Amino acid sequence: MPPEKLHWKHLYDEVVTSGLCTGCAGCVVACPHDVLGYKDTEGVYKPLHLEEELGPGGCGHGDRGCTSCTRACPRFRAWEPEVDQFLFGRPRSAIEVEGVTKDVILTRASDDKVHELGQDGGLVSAILIWALEHGYIDAALVSYLEGDGTTWKAIPGVARSREDILAAAGSRYTYSANTMAYSQAVETGAEKIALVGMSCQSSVPPVMTVRKAGKVARRFALNIGLLCSKTFDDAIFEELFEAKYGLPKAEIKKMNIKGVFQIWMKNGDYHEVPLKECHQWTREGCKMCPDFAAEHADISTGGIGKFNDWTLTVIRTDLGREIIIKMLEDGTIQGRPGDDDPGAIALMRKLSIKSRKRWPDFALPEPKLIEA
Ligand SMILES: Cc1cc2nc3c(=O)[nH]c(=O)nc-3n(C[C@H](O)[C@H](O)[C@H](O)COP(=O)(O)OP(=O)(O)OC[C@H]3O[C@@H](n4cnc5c(N)ncnc54)[C@H](O)[C@@H]3O)c2cc1C
Ligand code: SF4
Ligand code: SF4
Repeated sequence: MPPEKLHWKHLYDEVVTSGLCTGCAGCVVACPHDVLGYKDTEGVYKPLHLEEELGPGGCGHGDRGCTSCTRACPRFRAWEPEVDQFLFGRPRSAIEVEGVTKDVILTRASDDKVHELGQDGGLVSAILIWALEHGYIDAALVSYLEGDGTTWKAIPGVARSREDILAAAGSRYTYSANTMAYSQAVETGAEKIALVGMSCQSSVPPVMTVRKAGKVARRFALNIGLLCSKTFDDAIFEELFEAKYGLPKAEIKKMNIKGVFQIWMKNGDYHEVPLKECHQWTREGCKMCPDFAAEHADISTGGIGKFNDWTLTVIRTDLGREIIIKMLEDGTIQGRPGDDDPGAIALMRKLSIKSRKRWPDFALPEPKLIEA
């Protein structure tokens, strides 16, 4: 029997329409025939087939042997042990609920402006600037706000300079499939690209590489993950923040999540919205996601813990360690041991366990909690 050719039909049935699809856009970016599109309006963050003849779940190229989309999807079949094996030489063990780690430390950018504009310690922006200046990358896929920022619609984009990187700094808590900016980066000549993305997106480059999804994977030179338990529907701005709290999005200056949704207004006011009120606006693609800690990034970053202006920094790969050590040595960032805040590490583990419990019984069991 020839091996089964797994293509869009299988991806559509097993991931896109089953609830597993995160909207990471890995499949869209990998499609060599450009027949996959991406809907990011009306709260939908999903891939779709652009040719209608065979229905939404059919693909003529797939029928003729193309398998790129299933090879690029971090939720298709046994993605997790395949990527663990490829990145770390082994699957994660029972206690590694947050993924395989080398070091967990706290960091912050030494440059005051980078630190101020960053969401937590400004580490992500500091890494991107440093990696550009030291030839590790020539572009980064990041997230901007559309237009003048008053709609708070997060959109993927390319950063090629310090100014671009700082314009994208900070967190937006709605979804932005930064992978979608890949073509734009390539069109502008980028050869070594960093991806900044939520946990779901940071599994895209290694899954593409290990499953040989095509030439797209070769340009991903650095993979920075953002810890993430969920993103919210864009509608949360009108339907909760404005309708209940009278906070028009055009007047919002900054937001953060630290136990509550913190909202700073342009007029200087500060508001807190309890997270339990926000849950009904959880984006559909997040509801079954098992990965809190961006387990397949080179470096994963988060804001939990008692030090508000430091970034919790999880170093996973040799490349991640090399970059962080060099940045510490040349003073670009400051560091302190993770032991300074054991509560943050404990919380990361607790939230990782919580996310793993969301993985559904109908899917392959690997990402579930493994009993120790
Ligand atoms: C939606 C979301 C949920 C998060 N949830 C948690 C959490 O539960 N616990 C936790 O500890 N940390 C969480 N984080 C991570 C945290 O908010 C910071 O991004 C992280 O600590 C890095 O901070 P920094 O100051 O080093 O990064 P910065 O220097 O501020 O850089 C942040 C980078 O993230 C990119 N970015 C911003 N918003 C988005 C978005 N919506 N989608 C994709 N890329 C984006 C920016 O373009 C920028 O490059 C979340 C982040 C996001 C975006
Ligand atoms: S999870 Fe990502 S790669 Fe998989 S089908 Fe959804 S958008 Fe495509
Ligand atoms: S919870 Fe975060 S990492 Fe998981 S699918 Fe949602 S956005 Fe992606």
